[in-house]
Amino acid sequence: MTPPTTTPLNATQIAAITGLLGSAQIRTPQDLAALDPGIDPHNFGACLLLRPGSTAEVAAVLAYCHAERIPVVPQGGRTGLSGGAITQPGQVALSLERLDAVEVLDADQRSAIVGAGVKLGVLAVQTAAVGLSPGIDLGARDSATLGGLVSTNAGGNEAFRYGTMRERVLGLECVLADGTVITELGQVRKRNEGLAVERLLIGAEGTLGVVTRVALELVPARRSVATAIVALESLTQAVVLARHLRAPALVALEVMSGNHAVAVVRSLGMTELASLAAHPWLALVEVEANSSEQAESMLIELLGTASEQQLLVDAVLAQNAAQRHAMWRLREDWAVDRERPGGLWYDISVPLSAMAGYVARVTARVAALDSGLEVFIIGHLADGNLHVTVNAPYPVTERYEAIAPLVTDELTALGGSFSAEHGIGVEKQATLLRLVSPAKLALMQAVKRAYDPHGIMNPGKVLPTAPTGPSVG
Ligand SMILES: Cc1cc2nc3c(=O)[nH]c(=O)nc-3n(C[C@H](O)[C@H](O)[C@H](O)COP(=O)(O)OP(=O)(O)OC[C@H]3O[C@@H](n4cnc5c(N)ncnc54)[C@H](O)[C@@H]3O)c2cc1C
Repeated sequence: MTPPTTTPLNATQIAAITGLLGSAQIRTPQDLAALDPGIDPHNFGACLLLRPGSTAEVAAVLAYCHAERIPVVPQGGRTGLSGGAITQPGQVALSLERLDAVEVLDADQRSAIVGAGVKLGVLAVQTAAVGLSPGIDLGARDSATLGGLVSTNAGGNEAFRYGTMRERVLGLECVLADGTVITELGQVRKRNEGLAVERLLIGAEGTLGVVTRVALELVPARRSVATAIVALESLTQAVVLARHLRAPALVALEVMSGNHAVAVVRSLGMTELASLAAHPWLALVEVEANSSEQAESMLIELLGTASEQQLLVDAVLAQNAAQRHAMWRLREDWAVDRERPGGLWYDISVPLSAMAGYVARVTARVAALDSGLEVFIIGHLADGNLHVTVNAPYPVTERYEAIAPLVTDELTALGGSFSAEHGIGVEKQATLLRLVSPAKLALMQAVKRAYDPHGIMNPGKVLPTAPTGPSVG
């Protein structure tokens, strides 16, 4: 196997690719310098960014890059948090942004077929018009694309009700590294037609091929909601509260540590939430019902009985849309990253029964390493998914690998995961190699060889280098 090239493309290659797409759909580094690279400035390190407008154009580009051993990095909304979309000068970035059509919206079947470049927020608006929802929601909804969500197996706020993207996807169209198109866009749940080879692209982070179209199962749109922020004395209390609140009407259950809330309140001047933020932990609770009055009385009753059973310390209900928005802002804003740039993010999940002990041990281990380090936590409580930020008054970016074992290495034994919903990318690669079994790693490498024999697809992501060995492709 000839490894993919790491040198910039030559003039012949650039001319050939330009011939496939037309010069209007090629962005040079000079063009990219004027554009927003998204969450990671390294997303625009490639020597070219390509904007194909159809599956056929994606296939033509990949076939050429496969023949020429040119590395290709697929990109959606560039909101990924594990470095999966970062690029280097010897690579081309392949943006799916022009595949942005909602092609089918079937209210009877509760399904949709959409281009990979459709933004989640756009799909949410279109499905809401027919009383449905994509069944997934997250903070980056206005930028993240369906192709990216599939490729990272994204989770978000509603995964505890509807699953992660792996459960939302009914079918996929994808293009493999050599340009082969696989179209499996059935809109039914029951489809046993041999190995679901296309489904391996879910969570593959662009390392096996390019997702071009997605068939998605939709869910009923939210009815009227009522929202509250609840103050808690401990994470143990939060876990018991979660058990108390578990009911079909519960549509959101998020958690945040008090120091996170204090930072957001300070940064955004949210004085009305300041007294709540002074508590050790907070939860955001949302329930739905047929009317806002019904939802509110249901939430008041749930929180009232929780209070009687001493499952919370205090609670504030949102009285209008602006207050609800502020409550979600309190959970989704990352003030601590603005106040102290250079912090570390870990994305883990842990069974609820083990959560409080786990967080206490992580906090103690981190403090023992360096008393200047501080742990901040936000997360999707109902899923046991916590985003653990380790921060200090000074940048600690270089210490990711040193601190990672303190956060991740007991999770497998607890029944949790060192990688909950953001994917592996480059950030969690060393952790993957440390914690995943050799047998699983070998199988992952064999699959990579079968789908991408020359290792051109997003090389160096998930698995460290292009694997060597006999090609099945
Ligand atoms: C404010 C904020 C909140 C977030 N909240 C959540 C959350 O709650 N839950 C969660 O799971 N994530 C969350 N994320 C992370 C991020 O939004 C998700 O990972 C999302 O799925 C990335 O989609 P994207 O279109 O931006 O993909 P990109 O960032 O462009 O790419 C991500 C990865 O997918 C690959 N890829 C992209 N498109 C394709 C394609 N068509 N075919 C093949 N590979 C492709 C890329 O190569 C890369 O490896 C959040 C991010 C931000 C900034």
